[in-house]
Amino acid sequence: MKVFLESIGCRLNLSEIEKIAAELRNAGHEIVGDTSDADIAIVNTCAVTSSASADSRKSIRRIANSGCEKIYVTGCYATVAPETVIDLPSVVSLYSNDGKKDIITDLFEQFQIQPGISTSVVREPLPGKNHRTRAFIKAQDGCDNHCTFCLTRIARGKSVSQTKTEIFVDVENALKGGAKEIVLTGVNLGSWGKDLRDGFTLPKLISQIINRYSPNRIRLSSLEPWDIDRSYFRVFEHPSFCQHLHLPLQSGSDVVLMKMGRKMLTKEYQELIQNIRSDFPEMAITTDLMVGFPGESEKDFIESIAFVKNLNFSGGHVFRYSPRPGTPAAKMDKIVQEKEKIYRSKKMRQVIADSEDQYKKKFLNKKLSVLWEKIEKQDKENYLLSGLTGNYLRVTVAAHEDLQNMISEVQIIKIENNHLLGQIV
Ligand code: SF4
Repeated sequence: MKVFLESIGCRLNLSEIEKIAAELRNAGHEIVGDTSDADIAIVNTCAVTSSASADSRKSIRRIANSGCEKIYVTGCYATVAPETVIDLPSVVSLYSNDGKKDIITDLFEQFQIQPGISTSVVREPLPGKNHRTRAFIKAQDGCDNHCTFCLTRIARGKSVSQTKTEIFVDVENALKGGAKEIVLTGVNLGSWGKDLRDGFTLPKLISQIINRYSPNRIRLSSLEPWDIDRSYFRVFEHPSFCQHLHLPLQSGSDVVLMKMGRKMLTKEYQELIQNIRSDFPEMAITTDLMVGFPGESEKDFIESIAFVKNLNFSGGHVFRYSPRPGTPAAKMDKIVQEKEKIYRSKKMRQVIADSEDQYKKKFLNKKLSVLWEKIEKQDKENYLLSGLTGNYLRVTVAAHEDLQNMISEVQIIKIENNHLLGQIV
């Protein structure tokens, strides 16, 4: 059977779809990169914002329009809006996030497929647009926090950790598949281990992965700032730990943070960043920011932008608040007008772009190691390659061979179109 797999939204979704791919390959089926070749399709949807929900619908329609008659849908959008998703063209089955694990069993039953014999299923990147060189490993799911704007905690439920053994097997399969970088991912990764009650914590897990498997690189997808304590700092020192932390702040105004139900206010957040930078001055710190939250006054926004400017992030995502069904914030009044949200988002993006530029300039004429991820352009033996540094900078170089999934030392020469241009040394 030929199966097309689609993942929308977060890295957790992608790691889950890659796992489904491995089980299907193990049972002798082909994962195709083009919808028109597929007998069936499986779509892992997202609903974090209203535009993510729209992307999920668009993707299902695109697959149906390409002639695929059997689409199996799962993920956050399928969990929070089942009645809408089931009515979309060619959708034959729906699985909530809880039921995701049943997709494979049902498929095997439906199509009388014998599960694969091998227990260790080597990771292979997906074909087509969902191809990723770096291996995203699911370590945790769900969340026990109560941010008032967040639909993810509703769609994914309580925090559940993968066991160490499950994670070790996935890491092993990824490394056997040639992955040079392991990215641990989850909804609230920092809460990994708290439900396992064996006193094991995320820093200990990272150290064990490093000691057992010596991956070239290990990265964390995102951490809520309140989960970081000094025990992380010893892990940050390790040469294979990617010097990049994504620490969502959401707002630089305490008034707004309290309405959001966030567990850390600006003073603590600033102290945390200062502590990290005093030990790791070159650590890339990126963030998530939301503008236009209900009740965010002009004064709150000015405070927020001043705080963000002062922290000099090395990058970040800026979202316009969109009410998510079933969240407490969706019932809040003092709605900020869309026009004003667009204006605030533009201002905040400019602040992030300026500090990101400052951060990049620090690395001009320096050497960085880059994992090549894709060929941007190619003619005969000339390749324009792009890849990521450990501190999450995108670099492009000209090369005479395809170095995808290899790591090279690169001298950074200049900044062009938001990319660092380099030369392999
Ligand atoms: S920490 Fe907050 S924003 Fe993050 S998943 Fe949990 S509830 Fe959502």
